[in-house]
Amino acid sequence: MPEQLNKLVDKFGRTVDYIRLSVTDRCDFRCVYCMTEDMTFLPRSQILSLEEIYLVAKAFIELGVKKIRLTGGEPMVRSDVMSLIRKLGALPGLEELNLTTNGAQLDKYAPALKAAGVNRINISIDSLDTERFKRISRVGNLEKVLKGIDAARSAGFDRIRLNSVIMRGYNEDEVIPLTEYALDRNIDIAFIEEMPLGEASDHDREDTTCSNEWVRNTIQEKYELLNSTAKTAGPSRYVQVVGKNNRIGFISPVTHNFCEECNRVRVTVEGRLLLCLGNEHSIDLRAILRDESANFDDLKQAIVASMEIKPERHYFYDTDHEQPVRLMNMTGG
Ligand code: SAM
Ligand code: SF4
Repeated sequence: MPEQLNKLVDKFGRTVDYIRLSVTDRCDFRCVYCMTEDMTFLPRSQILSLEEIYLVAKAFIELGVKKIRLTGGEPMVRSDVMSLIRKLGALPGLEELNLTTNGAQLDKYAPALKAAGVNRINISIDSLDTERFKRISRVGNLEKVLKGIDAARSAGFDRIRLNSVIMRGYNEDEVIPLTEYALDRNIDIAFIEEMPLGEASDHDREDTTCSNEWVRNTIQEKYELLNSTAKTAGPSRYVQVVGKNNRIGFISPVTHNFCEECNRVRVTVEGRLLLCLGNEHSIDLRAILRDESANFDDLKQAIVASMEIKPERHYFYDTDHEQPVRLMNMTGG
């Protein structure tokens, strides 16, 4: 492939150097904002094999991608996912291999993930109260997740960040306890606004969505916050509590959009390359991977060509624009 194609640049001049790779749509939790209670998951024939996921990752890295985040569904429920993670961790050119997990299996896997080359881990936790944690995740066990967080801290990852979705009527009174839990352990925390990805079956999202401005004000009533100088290539905006090293992030896709700085695309476990979280523009990488007449260069060419259809921005809650029907577990969060 000619040199000038070894970089992914869309028609708005944004360079894509980060992919979020979903390794499964399945999960051992059923969080109310992410899934319905009676989910039907994809049959095996429709999902990419671990080898196919590896080839997709390799193609992106050869096209200049430096950072991969593995997600899902819950990545740690995919059988033999560790073999994929070890192979990705050894790929030359990849500068960061990160993972987003619900933490339920970190107690068991944290040291192996670190040894496989995982740099950073995001762990989702929306409540520190056992009953409420179960209500939000429908089936999750808080104690296991807390043990998982401790195991991740002991394993020595470059960075650990907690992810919390704050929803009115569920956990809006936990902003301070969750912040303090992170402060006490010197780990980061990010508050994520609930996004309208598919219908939530237990509530109307417009009633529960809580703006990050409100979350930030709530923290500010107790702690003095400084804008963090740390610049991450992503939609998070970080602050720090005066006198503390860890960061508090706000991911506010609903009330703000940072689309002009977007540097990422997603690949679902079906091999659908999604050019934007909030739009349906995509190309089918699985068809290329399974086409006997296509080769690895064809895969790369298709990825390069997809840059032409990366949308300029998302339009969450804008009634003039169609809203995504995909749930987050199908999207790769
Ligand atoms: N199972 C893993 C986990 O929970 O961290 C990884 C996948 S999950 C889909 C990734 C992230 O998406 C989690 O932090 C979760 O809280 C968030 N998420 C899921 N559905 C969401 C929604 N509708 N709005 C905002 N965040 C959502
Ligand atoms: Fe599973 Fe993560 Fe979705 Fe919760 S947010 S149901 S843990 S994929």
